[in-house]
Amino acid sequence: MGWTATGLYGRNSSPDRPQVGNPPPSNGPFSLTDMPYDYADLEPQIDQLTMEIHHKRHHGGQLANLNNAVSEFPELADMTVEEVMKNVSRFNTSVRNNGGGHYNHDLFWKVMAPEGHRGEISSELKAALERDFGGVEEMKNAFSSAANGQFGSGWAWLILDDHSHLKVLGTPNQDNPLMDIAPTRGTPILGIDVWEHSYYLAYQNRRGAFVSNWWDTVNWGEVSRRFKKGPIH
Ligand code: MN
Repeated sequence: MGWTATGLYGRNSSPDRPQVGNPPPSNGPFSLTDMPYDYADLEPQIDQLTMEIHHKRHHGGQLANLNNAVSEFPELADMTVEEVMKNVSRFNTSVRNNGGGHYNHDLFWKVMAPEGHRGEISSELKAALERDFGGVEEMKNAFSSAANGQFGSGWAWLILDDHSHLKVLGTPNQDNPLMDIAPTRGTPILGIDVWEHSYYLAYQNRRGAFVSNWWDTVNWGEVSRRFKKGPIH
């Protein structure tokens, strides 16, 4: 048995559990992702309080900042967040950080799922991983190395490039490979948030344990769907 995060505050609310409250108010064209499961549903790999703070405060704060940027850049109102990423060099650092944060977290919530809802890796994705990495386990090892090796805050990604080849890489801060400023560009189909806020309550400094346990939360059905959809042009 490996180490797990079970029992930090218990699965459900207790009198001792901090109250997180609501996300900051945010009016504008971009909306906070509706969570496709409950905050406790990824336990024991990710604890309920971490999920709730992460979604409401971290993602919610970035979403509010992105919507606030519309007053400075009115054209944002007519763009999808994917279009913002692909044209991010037209905007400022706040749009880069907060737009990136919105895109990244929206993907992160959706590529995880509760037990029983994680689907299967498609035969097409499995074949592509064998072609580009030598196998599923080899990709996971490369991805975990990128996640564990990302210095400071950032993300690790499995991306599809414009030739529909799969690659693994890390990006700092809230950058992602969809951005037109990214050194290596492509469409993420899987990503992990390795900012400390993603795991620190339960795992403290043990990023490697978080990354290792996180694999058990991956929604392979959703990753396979994103692979089939192909690169965002
Ligand atoms: Mn985060």
